[in-house]
Amino acid sequence: MRSVADRKWLLAFALAGLLACRNSPAVCAICDRPIHPEMISTVVLADGRRLPACCPRCALHHRDLHATEVRRIEVTDHAGGVRLPLEDAFLVDGSDQTPCLGHAPNVDPSGVALHTCYDRCVPSLIAFKDEAAARAFIGDHGGTLRPPSAAGP
Ligand SMILES: [Zn+2]
Ligand SMILES: [Zn+2]
Repeated sequence: MRSVADRKWLLAFALAGLLACRNSPAVCAICDRPIHPEMISTVVLADGRRLPACCPRCALHHRDLHATEVRRIEVTDHAGGVRLPLEDAFLVDGSDQTPCLGHAPNVDPSGVALHTCYDRCVPSLIAFKDEAAARAFIGDHGGTLRPPSAAGP
């Protein structure tokens, strides 16, 4: 049986753990990837909880699977960092930028690049507040423009 003193120690450790988490980089609540600040999305649930997500694509996958639980999705303007509702964003689909992957291509032991067959964050979906910024991004990185409210899975 645990004494009161033991419980105090447990509480202290729990608090230390919480504080340590606060200092570490934000992680996607859906897929556990580190979140790049210019890609952060938020899945707002019907019960009011807010799940930080690594990108609009990951948030949309979550909405597809849990449609009744998700009230709305907020995204970040890749060009300026402001937050906006997903329905108001111009989305660039499938550019050459995949911030969520964040690592060099996988290679097998002989050095041959391995092709990724499926990744929940690919093709990337990058949000912009302004159409002009989205079109400029496409000029540099390719992809197709999805106007506001055209965001599907
Ligand atoms: Zn994610
Ligand atoms: Zn992602």
